[in-house]
Amino acid sequence: MTFAQRVLQWFDRHGRKDLPWQQDITPYRVWVSEIMLQQTQVTTVIPYFLRFMQSFPTVQALANADNDAVLQHWTGLGYYARARNLHKAAQLICEQHQGRFPTQFEDVVALPGIGRSTAGAILAIAERQRYPILDGNVKRVLARYFAVEGWPGVSAVSDTLWRYADDVMENERPHHYTQAMMDLGATVCTRSKPRCESCPLVEGCLAYAQGQQSAYPGKKPKKETPVRSVTLAIPFYRGSVLMLKRPPTGIWGGLWSFAELQSDETIRAWAASNGFTDIKTQPLEPFRHTFSHFHLDIQPVLLFLSEIVQHKIQEDGARWFDVSKPLSVGVSAPTEKIISTVKSL
Ligand code: SF4
Repeated sequence: MTFAQRVLQWFDRHGRKDLPWQQDITPYRVWVSEIMLQQTQVTTVIPYFLRFMQSFPTVQALANADNDAVLQHWTGLGYYARARNLHKAAQLICEQHQGRFPTQFEDVVALPGIGRSTAGAILAIAERQRYPILDGNVKRVLARYFAVEGWPGVSAVSDTLWRYADDVMENERPHHYTQAMMDLGATVCTRSKPRCESCPLVEGCLAYAQGQQSAYPGKKPKKETPVRSVTLAIPFYRGSVLMLKRPPTGIWGGLWSFAELQSDETIRAWAASNGFTDIKTQPLEPFRHTFSHFHLDIQPVLLFLSEIVQHKIQEDGARWFDVSKPLSVGVSAPTEKIISTVKSL
């Protein structure tokens, strides 16, 4: 049996077939699920996917949605550029493709936030077109099976893996094959302790034959993760906190967050420059938030205001949010954490 036939036979017996995005399959649903599944586990994604589909059941609904509402549905998932790109891409699909998700590879891969692998997955799963994929799970399976050395972040290594991905894929049932490869990586050929004895590819797997499963794929060369620090100012008045919408790009782009102090600024100086006088301050417990490429040490400081007057920060678009009510805008995980601390005071 060929590589693909073994994978398909395994899928028929053991593959996952009951995930929400595997029902009522449309390119739109597959697209949203694929974007959510980048960097995020299936079990985490399921409730987010269901809620997203309930609020934005079609490309048009997503395109017409308010930016804050889209980001609010992403709160806690991280990597918010994914949500911004989904929203932007939905608007482009409405403008350029009459609201129908494109079915040509070139059109799909041209949309923001969709790379070669995601475009392949959408077209294979929803349209049954033969396009290989190379997400993190598939990279691991192929790197082990063919003993491909080196870190896949290096283009020569990734080119080799793409070549193998294309070579082993056949024309038969591309939708099941694609799903099967992702499942195999997620459930059998796992990062640590792969279950080779249950793997349909055990025969012919070079990493297994060498007893070197953990050597593949090659690791990223280690670099010390830089640490940055920030102080956040949290004006507080009668159960409400003041937040600003962040610029559309960069970290937490488009999300609502607390004002950041300049590195050499004191909280008193920040308060004075924004017109807040007669305040009491209270530092909250500092904490660390880790991004993929740096750590951020966060020091939140509460500013108790004795009255609300029009402050400079409000002229910049800041709004008051009642911490006892559910938020209608998107916030980052650290902001959510700070709000729940404030709530418990
Ligand atoms: S035999 Fe083991 S290492 Fe090789 S593909 Fe299967 S699970 Fe991965």
